[in-house]
Parts: sequence; structure tokens; C-alpha cells
Amino acid sequence: MTDVRLGIPTVRTPARTGKGYVVRTFGCQMNEHDSERVAGLFEADGMAPASDLADADVVFINTCTIRENADNRLYGNLGQLKRFKDEHPDVLLVVGGCAAQKDRDLVRERAPWVDVVMGTHNIDRVLDLMDHADAHGGVTEVVDELEAMPSSLPVRREAAHKAWVTIQIGCNNTCTFCIVPSVRGPEVSRRPGDIVSEVERLAADGVVEVTLLGQNVTTYGRDLAIDGRRRPIFADLLRRVGEIEGIRRIRFTSPHPADLREDVFAAMAESDAVCEQLHLPLQSGSDRMLAAMHRGYHAERFLDRLATARRYLPGLTASTDVIVGFPGETEEDFDMTLEVMEVARFDQAFTFIFSPRPGTPAAEMPLVDPNVVQDRYRRLVDLQNRISEERNREMVGTVVEVLTDGPSKKDPTVATARTRGNKVVHVPGSYPIGEFLEVEVIDAARHHLMGRLR
Ligand code: SF4
Repeated sequence: MTDVRLGIPTVRTPARTGKGYVVRTFGCQMNEHDSERVAGLFEADGMAPASDLADADVVFINTCTIRENADNRLYGNLGQLKRFKDEHPDVLLVVGGCAAQKDRDLVRERAPWVDVVMGTHNIDRVLDLMDHADAHGGVTEVVDELEAMPSSLPVRREAAHKAWVTIQIGCNNTCTFCIVPSVRGPEVSRRPGDIVSEVERLAADGVVEVTLLGQNVTTYGRDLAIDGRRRPIFADLLRRVGEIEGIRRIRFTSPHPADLREDVFAAMAESDAVCEQLHLPLQSGSDRMLAAMHRGYHAERFLDRLATARRYLPGLTASTDVIVGFPGETEEDFDMTLEVMEVARFDQAFTFIFSPRPGTPAAEMPLVDPNVVQDRYRRLVDLQNRISEERNREMVGTVVEVLTDGPSKKDPTVATARTRGNKVVHVPGSYPIGEFLEVEVIDAARHHLMGRLR
């Protein structure tokens, strides 16, 4: 094995024409988007997606390290791939993403049959590293500084009508449970002009919906000197992207409750294209836990922000993330979370049991009894399931615009579509992907709505 740093070629003749690739992605939308860029680079090099692992010449595993089970799944997957590699020694196995960035030596140690281990900051180098592995054997290259804003790389999008657009990489916060700042590095904002140009190109390509991606989009721009000043300019960016012809839906993830200001809601309300949707991670309803997590807000301020958002954006769909069993969480702390959830009435909540990530301050803190945590988790999920169903039922009888995503995986006689609030709607019939329909909501369940074409 060697650790190398090669020069970056700017122009390359396709070298793997006719070969097949498989990309497996774990983790968040940032990783999904990075995988699209890896696939874009593979296709620029002449490769095509393989329909099956058995037909692949290159397998790229994009790893996640946010939660413990992501690590377990990674090493389980790599274990299975060993047998595949033994049977197909010419196949190149590439491991990238957050776990590789953070645990490069561990990945090598636990899976020495992997050909390339690379980090999150050097996606642009994947082809060179594969060439190096072909010529010289296994290679590890993980860099700590951002090499190229990934949005400047070619992309193979999963859907023709929707696209993710990276506006910022990294995070300057210090949430005590989170490994992201040490894996993705400090916040780096992309120039607004680059973002607008990319969205204009996407619109020209037929994309009608974009999701702006960043770890803390509400501080977007504060590292750039725009007009000689350094300040968050996310609201300005929303307005500019909102003016691009052809883009009918704009989403973003994630804003941080501590940094979210009224100017963002005003910009959302002003632009017809910005969807009435907000994912605002609460994490806990207890001020004591929020302080221990270093979140930088109180529950009351969180609820106040949400209420302000709803004033600006009637019909807002709101979702959140909650951690159960953070170290030191008492029954009283947990009750406060339930109370805030009752008041907030989120349409959806992503609920997680705390899992310590080595290298974070929270990993050094004493754990709450797992049986207690399980019980709290069940109570939280029950509460949210009830609220989600109630919120969805409130929509029965309304007429909404939906954007089709194709046939339902479970029932091909039904099309799956999404509202502006990002709620899933099933509509009987077959419609082209990426079509806007007007539907009446005729029924609702916890996780989806049923619609009838108007
Ligand atoms: S805001 Fe907190 S949770 Fe989000 S990426 Fe930054 S450190 Fe992690």
C-alpha cells in the first residue's frame, strides 16, 4: 500500500470505456450528491452503470460515519465484498466518504482488499487514484483541505427533473455529538455567481426543482467578502435563485435554529419558487440538553422561530431531527422534548437514539440506561406518528400541486408525487416523471396522502 499525492490532470481522455460501475451510498443528501459526482466522473471516463454487482468493473462505496450503525453497515458491506473481490480480483474497490476521511487507517486495517481509500475533499481525484491502484496496487489518499468545490465536477443525476446544488461545505459549529466538522472541515461557501450559473444550466437541462445543500445554510456567505463585507447572505441567494426561469421549486437543507433569521422567511415568502417547507433540527426540547449539545438556542426561541416561519409562510410543512438519550438526559428533560413536539406539531420528525461517535465530546459522557432510552424513543415515535397523521388528515379536501416522481415501487398502477411541502402523494394512473399535476387530497395516512386528479 502507498499513500500518494498525485498531480491533478485538468483534461483526460476517457480510459475506461465499456466498463461498468456500481456506486453504493450510505448517509445523508451530501453523500448522495457526492455519489452523483463520482458517477459523473466515471461516465466522463467512458464507464456506464452496471445493472448488477456481478457486471461491475469498479465498485465505489460512499461511506457515512454520523451514526454507529452506519459504521457497522460499512464493515458488514466490506466483508461481503471481500468474497466478491476474491472471485473477481480485477474489480477495483474504492471506499470514499466520511468514514474513509475519518478512519482511513481503520478501513485499511479492517478491509485490506480495498484498492482505493479516499476522503471527502478529493472526489475530483477518484480516476487518478484508480489509475494508480491499477498500476501500483492499493492506495490511500485523504486530504484535510478542500481541493475542489464538488459542484464544479460532472454529475450523473438520479432524476432528470430534480437536482441537488451544493452551496456550502463543512461546518463551524461545535455540536458535542457531531463528527461532521472534523470530517468535512470548516465552513466554505461557494460563490453566489457559481451557484446561480449552475442552477441556470440545470434549468436549461429541464430541471424544475433544486435543493440547496449545506451543513448550515443559514450562515451561507459569511466566509465570503461580498461588497467588502462578510455576512450571511442566504436570503439574497434564495431571491437570486428564485428568479431563474424554469425553476419552479426551491428547497434547502439544513438551516440552523440558532442562525435562522426573519430575513430568510421574508425571502422565502417573496419568491414563488421557494417551497413552503422547513427542516429545522430541534434535537431536544430541554434547555439543559441543548446547552450540553452546544446548540446555541433555547426551546422557547426555537418555537418562536417556527411560529414566525408559519406567519410568513401559511401552510408551511415543517420537519425536524430529535436525539433521544443524549448523555445526562433525565425524565424531566425528555418530557420537555415531548412538550415541545406537541406545540411544534411537526409534519415529520427523524428520531434517533444517541450513539456516541469517537472523537466527539459527547462520546466521553456517561450513557443513559439503554432500556430507559428505548422506552423514551418508543414514546416519542408514538407521539410523532399521531401528530404526523393528524397533520396529513388536515390536508384532506384541499387541492395541491404535485410533482411526479414515477410509478410507486409497491404499486405500479399508482404514481408517486410530492407536494411543495415535500409530502408524498399517491395518485392512481400513470404519468410522465417530472410532470406537475393538480390533485385533490382524498385520504391521508401517517406517511403519505392519497390524491385524485382534478
Ligand atoms: S450544525 Fe452541529 S449537527 Fe450540524 S453539521 Fe454542524 S456541528 Fe454537526
